[in-house]
Amino acid sequence: MSIIQDKIKKDPDGLVARAHDFAKKAHQGQKRKTGEPYFNHCLKAAEYVAEWKLDDASIAAALLHDVVEDTPATIEEVKNNFGEEIAFLVDGVTKLGRIKYRGVEAQVENLRKMFLALSHDIRVVIVKLADRLHNMTTLKALPPQKQKRIAVETSELYAPLAYRLGMQKVSGELEDLAFPFIYSQEHDWLEKNVKEKYGEREKYLERVKPAIVEALKKQGIIPLFVDSRAKRYSSLYKKLLRYNMDVNNIYDLMALRIAVKNVEECYAALGVVHNLWPPLPGRIKDYIALPKPNGYRSLHTTVFCLDNKITEIQIRTPEMHNEAENGIAAHWAYTQARGSKQYINKQASFADKKELIWIGQLKTWQRDFSDPDEFMNSLKIDFFKDRIFAITPKGEVIDLPLGATPVDFAYHVHSEIGDCCSGARINGKIAPLDHRLNSGDIVEIITQKNKKPSESWLAFVKTGMAKHRIKSALKSRTSVVAKESELMELRIVAEDRIGLLKDIAAIISRSHINIIGLNTRVDKSRGGRFTAVKISCEAKNRGKAKELLIKLKRLKEIKEIDHRFSTKI
Ligand code: MN
Repeated sequence: MSIIQDKIKKDPDGLVARAHDFAKKAHQGQKRKTGEPYFNHCLKAAEYVAEWKLDDASIAAALLHDVVEDTPATIEEVKNNFGEEIAFLVDGVTKLGRIKYRGVEAQVENLRKMFLALSHDIRVVIVKLADRLHNMTTLKALPPQKQKRIAVETSELYAPLAYRLGMQKVSGELEDLAFPFIYSQEHDWLEKNVKEKYGEREKYLERVKPAIVEALKKQGIIPLFVDSRAKRYSSLYKKLLRYNMDVNNIYDLMALRIAVKNVEECYAALGVVHNLWPPLPGRIKDYIALPKPNGYRSLHTTVFCLDNKITEIQIRTPEMHNEAENGIAAHWAYTQARGSKQYINKQASFADKKELIWIGQLKTWQRDFSDPDEFMNSLKIDFFKDRIFAITPKGEVIDLPLGATPVDFAYHVHSEIGDCCSGARINGKIAPLDHRLNSGDIVEIITQKNKKPSESWLAFVKTGMAKHRIKSALKSRTSVVAKESELMELRIVAEDRIGLLKDIAAIISRSHINIIGLNTRVDKSRGGRFTAVKISCEAKNRGKAKELLIKLKRLKEIKEIDHRFSTKI
């Protein structure tokens, strides 16, 4: 029985039951493009939300998410029947639904709105993800043109969002559902060349499992489950591009996953595995000590396994597993109590502040960018690509895009540290500022008081934030210079002729002096044959300005020339 039906049975007059009936009635007679009743879509979306263990308000909002947009029902009716909170959630989801990602530049304002809604109440976004997830499963029913657009939008916007929320399973599913619509030929290629390999690997891992379970038990570790996870087509394809399309070089095509009781047992199990099969050097990843920026925790290792086959093994606790699959949604069900995490049934609470930090960052961030393109570019680079994380000497983990440098790091620690950064020590050794950081690097920034950012940094920094800060520091410096720069005002009286002004301007610009203002009038006092020219120009270099005067005086039409220096604009 579905979770929703179960809830309705337990509480026939409850929120979920009432939302179910209201939505069903509202969508009466409507059909999806697939031909099935429209309400099925609402029910499926609500089922996802319930699976992710969100609260009843979210489930109700999922059931009602399309009534305002697609039926005669209004948001007022929703409010009258279900209260402010549900109406707020439904309204939020409806608004998110109007956001269409069609390209890069044109969409940035909408993306901002979306992110704002995101930081307002994450439940809105999660319901929207459920809606999108179900829509992706029925994408085939839409016309090809629409399929492509929605698939791209899913892959560029929704999947990365889910990933950032730590909802890896949803993120991966969205990517996989979108993949064949965006890369249909590549998808066919994988079907033809890799599908069989998956089967082989699965059979192989079935042989590995008992060997591991036995070895663990010998050491007193009872695994809670051991299963295998197939690498998703979408991420496999990205990886293949880096490995000459050779599947044999991909070691984590299928990984073995072991769940044990607690963190101590994770490390103990890693020891058991390494005792059984030698690890590949440099392939042990401790995401428990250093979680991924989205909160992902696990131990990963790659070993020369049975028959000397290279195999990836992941070790985690059930809690880590739940968090890895469901991310921020998983946190709804937990609350801090006396230092330990206790499971609380039904009663939903907002995620811990820490989990929401990056959302806060996003909010300040997008306020910082005045130029939509710049914001979009920084989003593209910072959010949709691979990440690395480097560590401050105090142990703070700084989340950065691949290829980030000490300057990026410095700006992400604090904008002032970025501005005053003069050098870096990486793992104790002095390194150049354009050095590419690796995950796990301990980075100490050497600062110098009154040091200013250098324009040359723009050539190597990777994060939008660093670029933005450097540019604005440079800009404010130039404008200070301009304010203080000296000006020269010239008053010239010359005998008028065609092309005279052009000649004067040419002489000035050949002296590499910028003209700021110029006006002329007929000098009536001299019978109309003369013209009076007033020119203001830059005079950063007074010597150069004086030379200019000499050059101008050589022009035979010029009868009088006065000059005056000033420091105002
Ligand atoms: Mn929908």
